[in-house]
Amino acid sequence: MGLKIKCNKCGHEFKVNLNKTDFNWSVDSTSEREMGTERCWLSTVTEECPSCNTEFNIEFYVWEYPEGVFNYSSVESDNAKILNELSLEKYIDLQDTPNNG
Ligand SMILES: [Zn+2]
Repeated sequence: MGLKIKCNKCGHEFKVNLNKTDFNWSVDSTSEREMGTERCWLSTVTEECPSCNTEFNIEFYVWEYPEGVFNYSSVESDNAKILNELSLEKYIDLQDTPNNG
């Protein structure tokens, strides 16, 4: 699976291949809702445009709600445009939370 990206600076389109090991998830925010705790997970990956060498951060968000269940995800970047939809469900282990034993 990969992410299609367009560099905001030079307009170059390229693909970033992602592996589960590229992600370093941490809890960005939590909120208490009707069915329990909602967690927003965030992982930032730094990539470089192969054409103009501009560096940009890609922010991957995953919302877990209710606990242990993938709800939805989104991908954002500061210096680049994300061209495809990518579900992040398989890049995060929501069952693997520290409190789970
Ligand atoms: Zn570029």
